[in-house]
Amino acid sequence: MPTVRLKKRAERSILRRHPWLFSGAIECTEGAPQAGDTVDVLASDGAWLARGAWSPHSQIAVRVWTFTAAQPVGAEWFRARLAAAIAARARWLGDAPRPACRLVNAESDGLPGLVVDRYAGFLVCQFLSAGTEAWRDAIVQELIRLLPATAGVYERSDVDVREKEGLQPCAGVLWGEAPPEAVEIAEGPCRYLVDIQHGHKTGFYLDQRDNRAAVAEFANGREILNAFSYSGAFAVAALRAGATRAVNVDSSAEALALAARNVALNDLDPARLENTQADVFQFLRLCRDARRQFDLIILDPPKFAATRGQVEKACRGYKDINRLAFKLLRPGGLLATFSCSGHVDRDLFQKVVADAALDAGCEARILRWLSQSGDHPCALAFPEGLYLKGLICQVGGTPS
Ligand code: SAH
Repeated sequence: MPTVRLKKRAERSILRRHPWLFSGAIECTEGAPQAGDTVDVLASDGAWLARGAWSPHSQIAVRVWTFTAAQPVGAEWFRARLAAAIAARARWLGDAPRPACRLVNAESDGLPGLVVDRYAGFLVCQFLSAGTEAWRDAIVQELIRLLPATAGVYERSDVDVREKEGLQPCAGVLWGEAPPEAVEIAEGPCRYLVDIQHGHKTGFYLDQRDNRAAVAEFANGREILNAFSYSGAFAVAALRAGATRAVNVDSSAEALALAARNVALNDLDPARLENTQADVFQFLRLCRDARRQFDLIILDPPKFAATRGQVEKACRGYKDINRLAFKLLRPGGLLATFSCSGHVDRDLFQKVVADAALDAGCEARILRWLSQSGDHPCALAFPEGLYLKGLICQVGGTPS
């Protein structure tokens, strides 16, 4: 097996079981590894440290498969890792007729670069690294063996990060049936339609499952603004929980078309929902100028900071929308505000929201700290895995 030898004193992060080895830590390679090949990682003194996938095009030159020398990486090894990840999701899969759950959360499930989501009978995979690309067929075969009721496996590796690994974007049927235009899933008391082939990411924002339930707890009797709504999942959860009305705002017409269908699917009166295709930054300003108010505002924007260098600009964006949202709340109103930028940490996000409240002239308290759902775990050795953070804040004053 080819080997990668580290520079002197470069083994610290590997010894802490961090799964990424950056190219700058490498002294030399032996055995001419090709992209996706399995390599043994050795310390500068030759001691065995880990076994991983070689990715010559990426700054992350090795993603570690295992820290155990006795584990050969092959179909059986993948079966064991996939089986462990699936077993850990028993609580979300249960006996639900149309379960929706992330089955494999990449590095945090010991399978760097691999994402597998399940929507009822369909599995959706993302192969985000040279290593997962090399093992793609074996991974699909093992998934089908482990989940024999699967109707089809679909690939949604049409994402930019593949470029960093020297891979082309890729999407299509990997096995079995092609998913229908919309797959129906169950989430708590709600039903949602998922467009696996054309939707965002793998089709749905499963990472917000727990947060939709948390927001629904506060929704009864309130008028909701669901900004960056995508297919309106927060609005459906809130309306089912007794919200009087909801407004979805998103820039995507396709997402809003699905949002309208999701309201019908849940037997909700369509008159309680307004779908507005708009830029949220502009929409919030229009509401401010029209003195339009809400009792609960959800802000779930896309990732504003893709790199560390974009953090400052991202924070200006977060502050802008949060400041405007605070201004639109009735006394006693609630703001459920999120950031999915991994580079903006929890403390920084809270500070930005606090600054926004100050600028809006609002006094506000945090009622809840929110994070990603439990089927999107974060390995303790891999803090990068924690990306979604949110707050439910209440502004002062007597509720209307
Ligand atoms: N809350 C959603 C997920 C939101 S994802 C859920 O629970 O399912 C972010 C959404 O923001 C996407 O649907 C994207 O189309 C939309 N978006 C991105 N930039 C926008 C902008 N400037 N104005 C309005 N919508 C935007």
